Amino acid sequence: MERAQGPESRWSWVEVNLAALRRNVTAFRRQLERGVQLMCVVKADAYGHGAVPCMRVMHAAGASQFAVATVSEGVALREAGIEWPILVLSEPPVDCVRTLVEHELMPSVYTADFALALGEAAASAGRVARYHLAIDTGMTRIGVRRSDVVELRRTIDFHRGLECAGTFTHFATADVPDDWDFALQLNRFREAVEALRGAGLETGLVHCDNTPGTIMHPECHFDMCRVGIGLYGLHPAEITRSYLDLEPVMSVRGRVTRVIYPNVGDGVGYGLTWRVPKQNIQVATVPIGYADGLARELSNQMEVIVDGMRCRQVGNICMDQFMFAVDVNGARSYRPTRPVEYGDVVTVLGADDDERITAEEMAALRNTINYEVVCDFGMRLEKIYT
Ligand SMILES: *Cc1c(COP(=O)(O)O)cnc(C)c1O
Repeated sequence: MERAQGPESRWSWVEVNLAALRRNVTAFRRQLERGVQLMCVVKADAYGHGAVPCMRVMHAAGASQFAVATVSEGVALREAGIEWPILVLSEPPVDCVRTLVEHELMPSVYTADFALALGEAAASAGRVARYHLAIDTGMTRIGVRRSDVVELRRTIDFHRGLECAGTFTHFATADVPDDWDFALQLNRFREAVEALRGAGLETGLVHCDNTPGTIMHPECHFDMCRVGIGLYGLHPAEITRSYLDLEPVMSVRGRVTRVIYPNVGDGVGYGLTWRVPKQNIQVATVPIGYADGLARELSNQMEVIVDGMRCRQVGNICMDQFMFAVDVNGARSYRPTRPVEYGDVVTVLGADDDERITAEEMAALRNTINYEVVCDFGMRLEKIYT
């Protein structure tokens, strides 16, 4: 297997496979009819993958719009020279309105106070602020209540500093087949859009589908789809695997910084939660810890891959390092083809030869979802783009 060189200052890194990212974006682009726009969701630094390099690939592969979670994420992208449309996926604090106008970031809007403050900030800068109207159709998270949609718009639409560039909702259960709650949310969204149009109000781009919605519900692609996790090669649920092939984009690797044959009975790590049970066991150290996103609850649960062979992680995961054991003459499943050496590459997430540790495997051990696994690895590790 071809391996990226690690950064020189620390032997651990996140590998981001931009060719896989491009193929995933293309796979989604192909799901959309011509004229339907692809909005790539790059919040949390592109789910831990590094937003700016990913966005350039996404745009080249057919994405026309982007979405972030926070104003500061949007500002950072503008400062990095990104000029494509960026939507902030919730309504930020009202103090942000000037920043939004200055950086041409589109907020989600669902209160009149915020919208009017935004309009004022835009007008006094001699501009028009574009925003997307968010509608709560049943997830009970953000958005104007569906009963208040037309009234909100009638309250704010007089303002010459405002332009509605989009109208959207978000599904709570888009990954559940034949789901009644999904159908209910979709109906409510259609009704709200019809009500706006019936009142003569401009909706801008109508959009609702996230990754599972885009894959499983082409009937509601409308004008645009907002795709996140799927771009990074991860499925939001088992059910979507049968619809579309995706390639995981992120791998996490480190090198062995120390390896010894401890004495039988020696303990490993804080609390000495694992002890060497017999002779001929190697214990090796890798500089990746929970401050790098390797959750501490994986301690003594997870495995790593060395030379295409799985090895047990042992002892409590530390903030910056973890240890693993190699049973040099032991059971095949824990034995690399040779003893581990200083500098060997250890795969924590991703493939090495025929073995692969998936974000889903880690998520199951942590009782979470693949989304959180990759976001976490974005915390501190250097990223290498391949
Ligand atoms: C995060 C998010 C998305 C993307 O969801 P995925 O499941 O990652 O595709 C889309 N829309 C909104 C409003 C979001 O918050």
